[in-house]
Amino acid sequence: MGDVRQMSELWKTRLTYLGIALTTLATFLLSAEFDALEWFYEYSRAHEDWNLDEILVLVLNLVLGLLVALLVRSRQLRRAMRARRIAEKQANRMARHDVLTGLANRRALQDRLNKIDAAPEAGQHATVLMILDLDRFKPVNDLHGHIFGDAILYQVAQHLRKAIEKDDFVARLGGDEFALILAPDRTPEDAERLARRLVGSLSRPFHHEGISVSIGASIGLSVVAPGAAAETALKRSDQALYAAKRDGRGQVAWYDADLDAKAHERAQLEGDLREALRGDQIIPFFQPIVDIRSGRLRGFEVLARWQHPDHGLLGPDLFIGIAEDIGAISRLGIGILRQACAIAADWDPSLKLSVNISPQQFKDLNLVPDIKTVLQETGFPPHRLELEITESAIIDDLDMARRSIDGLRDFGISIALDDFGTGFSSLAYLRQLPFDRIKIDRSFVTGMEESPSNQKIVSGILALARGLELSVTAEGIETQSELSYLLSLDCPLGQGYLFDKPMPGEGLPPDAALSSKEVSYRQPVSVS
Ligand code: C2E
Ligand code: CA
Ligand code: CA
Repeated sequence: MGDVRQMSELWKTRLTYLGIALTTLATFLLSAEFDALEWFYEYSRAHEDWNLDEILVLVLNLVLGLLVALLVRSRQLRRAMRARRIAEKQANRMARHDVLTGLANRRALQDRLNKIDAAPEAGQHATVLMILDLDRFKPVNDLHGHIFGDAILYQVAQHLRKAIEKDDFVARLGGDEFALILAPDRTPEDAERLARRLVGSLSRPFHHEGISVSIGASIGLSVVAPGAAAETALKRSDQALYAAKRDGRGQVAWYDADLDAKAHERAQLEGDLREALRGDQIIPFFQPIVDIRSGRLRGFEVLARWQHPDHGLLGPDLFIGIAEDIGAISRLGIGILRQACAIAADWDPSLKLSVNISPQQFKDLNLVPDIKTVLQETGFPPHRLELEITESAIIDDLDMARRSIDGLRDFGISIALDDFGTGFSSLAYLRQLPFDRIKIDRSFVTGMEESPSNQKIVSGILALARGLELSVTAEGIETQSELSYLLSLDCPLGQGYLFDKPMPGEGLPPDAALSSKEVSYRQPVSVS
């Protein structure tokens, strides 16, 4: 609006100029035609008392003054317009750039995507859109504060800037999410190579103010269909990114149409899960944990199952992740704990329960009080409860993990480090946190007889546990020979299909187990 007003003023000034110029010209022409000066001389002589010559000088001065004033005003206007144009450019720049990193922002990226409206020309390739998400940025932010987090994001942005080629385009979508559009002369193979390189380089630690943090990244890739809306391209790369994260983070994944169907399925499942959590569809199953030497029943691992009204019984791998994503894992976990404790409260007092706590649930500030409440409500004694946590629950904040573990152990609950051997640095945590037990992951135990390296790992873990005075449970025991090997290594407890699969609480524990000292599983186990 202001611009239009200024423009019209400029034009008014210009028209006035033109008017004056025309009038002057007309006066000149007229004076030439009629010999105006001579006429004026005669006229002023005849009316000497009117002082016409003075009036003329006055008029001429006025015209001159007006001209100068107009000139100055016109210059002012031009200057104001230039300043406005610069400010507008700047505002435009800011509207299209991310303030923190200086990269293009989501809007600029969308514009760029929307311009891809033609199929690639000869010598060019289909454009690839890459979405990159940092894997462990949130804990860095939580732990070291936003200013530190911002500094790391800035470093990541610089890193991306350096990693791309001249005609590639990089933007920050917000939070810890970035996007790259590759130049049309780059092939999808180039894109994948770049993505893998980035995942590799971003997995190395970043340093700021003497602190080093490791964040890592996952990347989703899709080919941008010409003429498709930017939203479609973003959605596809996003789905690929989601698949990459699901594959275990630090991965690169391409969009494929199946993902659309899967995303739809997942959205459906998400809705169903919210519903399920309101009712009683998520229930505990129990898998026996057995004393390997004597074959006696020692307790059960509690494993969640979902009795889905349409799909039947679903395993936890299908819903624990979703529960984490929708922020419902604590509710789910505490619900399972409450049901399991209520069911097992009047079992033989020597039988323990081992309950899984997801990393996200472990970080919930209400974890310890919630667990205490459940134990009080159900009358389940704390010393019969063991919680299984994984390395990823601890990794981000060791001090907080120590506080929670101490709080739980003070209350009489024991703590096991689950899936031992599958993480990066379980060993370091064993020294630093007061675990009672480690659980050897089933990936080392099942099929052990065919894998000498797994046998070595298992015997190594057992030796280590002995040195640290920790108890051990080996999971995934499926065969008699696996059991025999574990027995030869003096592994205290075991769990696996050889003994029993996870089963519902009804009818448990097996009748004989009421006196657990007597109950034995799949005996005879040869005791040397
Ligand atoms: P996990 O903690 O490693 O649990 C052991 C898994 O191994 C269970 O799978 C169990 O059914 C399976 N398993 C036991 N013995 C054998 C065997 O001999 N052979 C084979 N192949 N598998 C065996 P499940 O029940 O599907 O649970 C998968 C994972 O889901 C669990 O792995 C655990 O991480 C998680 N989970 C289960 N229930 C809960 C829960 O209530 N809360 C949380 N946060 N996670 C849970
Ligand atoms: Ca477990
Ligand atoms: Ca495991």
